[in-house]
Amino acid sequence: MRRALAEAGRAASAGDVPVGAVVLGPDGTGLATAHNEREATGDPTAHAEILALRRAAEAHGEWRLTGCTLVVTLEPCTMCAGALVQSRIARVVYGARDEKAGAAGSLWDVVRDRRLNHRPEVIAGVLERECAEQLTAFFRTL
Ligand SMILES: [Zn+2]
Repeated sequence: MRRALAEAGRAASAGDVPVGAVVLGPDGTGLATAHNEREATGDPTAHAEILALRRAAEAHGEWRLTGCTLVVTLEPCTMCAGALVQSRIARVVYGARDEKAGAAGSLWDVVRDRRLNHRPEVIAGVLERECAEQLTAFFRTL
C-alpha cells in the first residue's frame, strides 16, 4: 500500500485525482503500477486499476491474473470492480472507502456478487487514514 500511495502522488501533478494501484504476482513480486491518468490522457477509463490490470496482464503474459493481488488506495468504482472480476484476480486490497461510488463493499459490492462466476477476496481499510488524507488534501487545493 505504501507503493500505491507513492504512485498516487504522481497523479496529482497532471491534475488527476490521486489514486494509485499496484499488482502483485502470485509470488508477491510487483507486476505493474499505475495511477489515475484521466486528465493526463483524456481517457474516461484511465483509472489506476484499469491501467494497472492492463500492464500486469502484459507483464504476466496473459489476461488471466489468477493468483495475483491488486492493491489500490481508493475503493474501486463499478467499472474497475467489473474489470477486476474479468481479470480473475485473486485478491483486492484497498485503503480508503468510497461511500459515494465504491463497488467493493460501500455503495455496491460488485466484486463479491454471488451471481458472478468469480469473486476475489477483499481486504479493506489498509492504511485507510493515509489514503483518505491524500485524497482530502488534493480536493482541498481545488
Ligand atoms: Zn475505477
